[in-house]
Amino acid sequence: MENFARPTWVEINLSKLKRNFYRVKKIVGKRKIIAVVKADAYGHGSVEVSKTLEKAGAYALCTASLEEAIKLRESGIKIPILVLGYVNPSVLPVAAKLNIPVTLFDKRFLKRLREYKGEYPLKIHINVDTGMGRIGVTPSEIPEIINTLNTLPFIIFEGIYTHLSTADTDLSYANKQLSIFENILDQLKEKNLLPPLIHTANSAAILNLKRSYFNAVRPGILLYGLSPLNKAIDNFEPIMNFKTRTIYSKLVPKGKSISYGRTFITKKETLIATLPVGYADGYPRALSNKGEVLIKKRRAKIIGNITMDQTMIDVTGFPYIHPGNEVVLIGKQGNETITASEIAKKITTINYEIVSRIGKRVPRIFVRED
Ligand SMILES: *Cc1c(COP(=O)(O)O)cnc(C)c1O
Repeated sequence: MENFARPTWVEINLSKLKRNFYRVKKIVGKRKIIAVVKADAYGHGSVEVSKTLEKAGAYALCTASLEEAIKLRESGIKIPILVLGYVNPSVLPVAAKLNIPVTLFDKRFLKRLREYKGEYPLKIHINVDTGMGRIGVTPSEIPEIINTLNTLPFIIFEGIYTHLSTADTDLSYANKQLSIFENILDQLKEKNLLPPLIHTANSAAILNLKRSYFNAVRPGILLYGLSPLNKAIDNFEPIMNFKTRTIYSKLVPKGKSISYGRTFITKKETLIATLPVGYADGYPRALSNKGEVLIKKRRAKIIGNITMDQTMIDVTGFPYIHPGNEVVLIGKQGNETITASEIAKKITTINYEIVSRIGKRVPRIFVRED
């Protein structure tokens, strides 16, 4: 199978991705699915992931930047790609030409839209801040914005959305946000100004809040089979395995120090294996003396500080340790599983950060069968 000069790689299972997409579809019924593939599809590889989602029936995709969206267009993706984040007004003609709608999240952006002189009509989605506190126009600015948009013939008001900050942890606050959003929609409806696309639900809201569905949903983490909640979820399958192979092993006597800073001293004779993966690969240094990996279908502990490119593990008593043993950093081996969520919990972050930070240096390989 893999034949890398440095045996550290990520495997992405596109069949599982497709099944996760169908699971979301089953939950949300006839609503359109706008799949979130920002940050290289949360580290999973946005081109292959997007091709699979397009084929499975995603209505559109979301990226964080225009650069991410252009990369997908250039690799042959045909469905709309909405940019959620900031786009420099000077490149709006490029977005329009490539059928890449952009987000209006700041009233001051209207001035730029008035000056828009592209060859193609530019599609806009308005992001309203109903309580996320990140980007978004305030609800009271909406009437003026929409009135202005309607005077601009080359700007198409295609969608309106908001983002929930607590669909995983505080449904009462999420419902307050939805009330504000629904209120805006009611006002627009009265004046016959509703755009075709109305979307709010992230993954947590898809699981927890049917009220947030409107006519399109924006799942991210669920498609990758990871939980958006504080607990494990059934029915969705993680699609990523993060793997490496031992490159060296040695038996060291009691009292030897391992790695930078001498944070680990052997208490007895210890068999140590070295892995060709480190924090520059996005394997968090915070796992030093804390993390575990799977080798020989068992858990082994990380010992000493994780270095930029290499990591040591304790394999005392493990059979047949030699260079080339497969090691699972994230994924399954035998009956043992290490999830991105397990790693996240150990170092007080979230599974999103663990997968999205796996480095560019680590090749992604794509598999289709189980
Ligand atoms: C990242 C993001 C999403 C997807 O969130 P998940 O929790 O991964 O489902 C949806 N909408 C916006 C605006 C986002 O930034």
